[in-house]
Amino acid sequence: MATTSEVIELYNKYVIANYKRLPLVAVRGQGAYLWDADGKRYIDLFSGWAVTGVGHCHPRLVEAIARQAATLIFMPNTWHTEPQGRLAEWIATTGFGGKTFFCNSGAEANEAAIKLARIHASTSGKGRYKIITFENGFHGRTFAAITATAQPKYHEGFRPLVPGFMYAPLNDLAEVERLVDEETCAILVEPIQGEGGVNIAETGFLKALRDLCTQRGMLLMFDEVQTGVGRCGTWWGYQVPGVVPDIMTMAKQLGGGTAIGAMCAKPEVAANLGPGTHASTFGGNPLAAAAGCAVFQIIRDEGLLENAQKMGAYLRQRLLELKQETPMITEVRGAGLMLGVELAQNGTDLVSQCLAKGLYVNCTHDTVLRVMPPLNITREILDEALAILAETLRSMKPAAK
Ligand code: PLP
Repeated sequence: MATTSEVIELYNKYVIANYKRLPLVAVRGQGAYLWDADGKRYIDLFSGWAVTGVGHCHPRLVEAIARQAATLIFMPNTWHTEPQGRLAEWIATTGFGGKTFFCNSGAEANEAAIKLARIHASTSGKGRYKIITFENGFHGRTFAAITATAQPKYHEGFRPLVPGFMYAPLNDLAEVERLVDEETCAILVEPIQGEGGVNIAETGFLKALRDLCTQRGMLLMFDEVQTGVGRCGTWWGYQVPGVVPDIMTMAKQLGGGTAIGAMCAKPEVAANLGPGTHASTFGGNPLAAAAGCAVFQIIRDEGLLENAQKMGAYLRQRLLELKQETPMITEVRGAGLMLGVELAQNGTDLVSQCLAKGLYVNCTHDTVLRVMPPLNITREILDEALAILAETLRSMKPAAK
């Protein structure tokens, strides 16, 4: 096996340096644990941006992938395959009964939603094309997705962007109402903004958006790439506020670590995406779709929605206790096992110190620890992780203002 420095050397020579990477090489994962090339163990409270939601290498997921790999890895979408049909059934029956288009990532899922919104609007013949999205949202890195992402840092160097996107502050209904005009065809929002700092879209706000979309004949689209597939303690993030969108997008946890994305739309809206309008070579391939079906089965059979609620409540409580103890924490927010811990200062140091002690957490938006353990996390592992976090926080001095 190559050493850490040998692998890093390969990257330095051959891999484009578009990521800020840790000087670590991951070699193995099991459940909530990860090991690096030097044999050091880490508790993974991040799950790779909520991708490994049933933990690393869950035996049933491994078995489903191995079985499918030995049977049929790929078929073009000119054929039917059972895993894709079954996965679409899981999405429909755990959600709002929609029909699904499959792709390979969250950005592509949002591209599909944006295209569907426009083609749906084009059938009305009223020239509608504008889409409203929200400040601090994140929707991916393709052109329409970065345009939908209302954060200027993601636009720099890439202009001109795609026309037709308007931005409002999250939870500001008056501003949304001001922006809507005869050309607006849809609103795209994350039920909880992930990358933007674990910011919750308020229930009243989402309900008002639902009413506004219904009244004005616009589509309400939820980006559930991070909140979907159990992360919030419900199958879908929209089920926490109980506001049903017309379209939802998903990826991350959907394939348990295999590359898959999807867009699910109410059948009458989905009908606009006829043959030739949109496609993806690898979308819904049997391997990733079989993995996706295994993810849903594991969550159902092992009661992981209930575990996410229980462990989420426990983790939140313990973090709030920690907040009482240290001025370093100013707020704890989120739903299920998607929690954000607002820090009084930049969290880069805290993350590195935790990592050195064997705890892997993420900090987003400079000051928000994003805590997203696997849905099958145990209290024991959380206690072990919290002990490291608490010890590190206690040892840190608040940064001078
Ligand atoms: N939408 C949301 C809410 C996300 O959090 C992300 C990724 O972080 C994306 C879309 C883009 O997903 P991907 O990186 O798979 O294209």
